[in-house]
This record gives sequence, C-alpha cells and structure tokens, in this order.
Amino acid sequence: MDNRDLIRVAKETRKPMKLREDFSSGDVGCAILSGSGIVYTGVCIDLACGLGFCAEVSAIADMLKNGETRIIKLAVAFPEDRIGVPCGRCREMMIQIDKENMDTKIILGEDKEITLKELLPLHWLD
Ligand SMILES: [Zn+2]
Repeated sequence: MDNRDLIRVAKETRKPMKLREDFSSGDVGCAILSGSGIVYTGVCIDLACGLGFCAEVSAIADMLKNGETRIIKLAVAFPEDRIGVPCGRCREMMIQIDKENMDTKIILGEDKEITLKELLPLHWLD
C-alpha cells in the first residue's frame, strides 16, 4: 500500500458528525499500515472536559484489539482535504506502545514522509 492509498483510506474514514451541543466526531480520520500489512482506521471524538480523543488513538486501539503494535506508516486526514501530523500526545503514544515505532513514517503527501524519530528526536525512554 503506497502513500496515495493510505491517504485515500484516511480521507474516506473521516465521517464528520454533529453530536449534542457543539460536540462532534469524525472530523479527523486516521489510517495505520501495521507490521502485518493490515490497515486500521479511526476517527476523532471532540467532547467537553477533555473526554474526546484523536483519530490516531482510535486507530491505535483498533490495531491493539488485533494484537498488533507496530506502525509502519500513518496518514491523518483533516478537514478541507488537509493531510497533517499527529499531535504530541499521539506521537508519545505510538512510541510507548512499541519502541520500533520510532521508525514509523508519517505521511505528509504522496511523495513526502517524515519519521516519528525526526519529530521526537530525544525520547525519555531511550
Ligand atoms: Zn493526537
């Protein structure tokens, strides 16, 4: 699966939905290519009082549910067709579940990637 495919899956995973009040879910979609070659997906949930979580977190939970921890590549799709990088909490989560995820490639575009190691060069667990 190349970057274009993973970006497409991340975009298709987005399912913006209004919840009660001003809460929402699905504004951001994430697609993870795991060590076994399976693609796991997730959406964000935006709630009050810090109860929500990022799309990466739900994609990671989907992956862990299947007994996997290694993330080869990851694409995150934001509103307005934008591809972006995970927040600091998600970067930390990826490293804490598997040290090898330091080599995870974060997709920035069809021909553009950055590794998690480049985003977090000095990790406190190493
Ligand atoms: Zn995050």
